[in-house]
Amino acid sequence: MARLPEPESTPGGAREIAPDVYCLGPRGRTQTDVYFVRSGSSWALVDAGWAKDGPSIKRAAESVFGADTPPVSILLTHVHPDHAGSALELARIWECPVYMHPDELPIANGDLAAMTKYAGPLDHWVVLPLMRAMGRRRREAMLARSSLSDVSRPFEPGAGVPGLPGWECIPTPGHTPGHVSFFRASDRVLITGDAVVTLKLNSLAGLLLQRQGLSGPPRYTSWGWRAAKESVATLARLEPNVLAGGHGTPMTGAGVAGALRAFADRFSGRAAKPNGKIGH
Ligand SMILES: [Zn+2]
Repeated sequence: MARLPEPESTPGGAREIAPDVYCLGPRGRTQTDVYFVRSGSSWALVDAGWAKDGPSIKRAAESVFGADTPPVSILLTHVHPDHAGSALELARIWECPVYMHPDELPIANGDLAAMTKYAGPLDHWVVLPLMRAMGRRRREAMLARSSLSDVSRPFEPGAGVPGLPGWECIPTPGHTPGHVSFFRASDRVLITGDAVVTLKLNSLAGLLLQRQGLSGPPRYTSWGWRAAKESVATLARLEPNVLAGGHGTPMTGAGVAGALRAFADRFSGRAAKPNGKIGH
């Protein structure tokens, strides 16, 4: 399997990893990626990085599409702070909606009850106790500040991808309840968010050394491990030629489908505890 040749990047730092698909990343300690996808005369942003990433995402977009060409939409694979962090800021600048699976909407809109219901282990152990300790007024102010409710729109996964004809939405729950991936069947390009990543996120050494390699979702922030495994198998069945995850360097080439299939087999056999869940 070939790694992508080193970047022929635009001045804004994005590089074309497949026709009309540009990647900004991997960047930072978490090796985060965002994608810019052109369709006809318009384009959409897939994921929006951390909160601090807004200016660099905007710069990269302008270097690919020009300064006066905002996207038709921002699409989120899921609503975690390393993927939705700049969504509100960019949606306000670009005056475009932020689309997500209906099951992500309550969390995007700052609903604490939904956050509790769909919490991953890290949320249970750290995030939610911290939020409870904050006190109600501070907590509500914080949730209101980060809420996407002014810009968020649910979309029906079976009805195509808003703004991107030629792409389909593949529900890949597990990391979060409404996690989705995006697939262009014509040349088998697959954008996976955190359902599968190309960085060893689940080992401390892998994360610290930023080791490249296929991995399932980050375990400590995942909601349902059994569903996560089924989602990896779903993605493997698509036999992608390009695998563009939310963390790590995108993979391309004839070996990608086989590598993903082998990983899916390993992942479904090895990662389970007896009850098929972790943490809770
Ligand atoms: Zn992530």
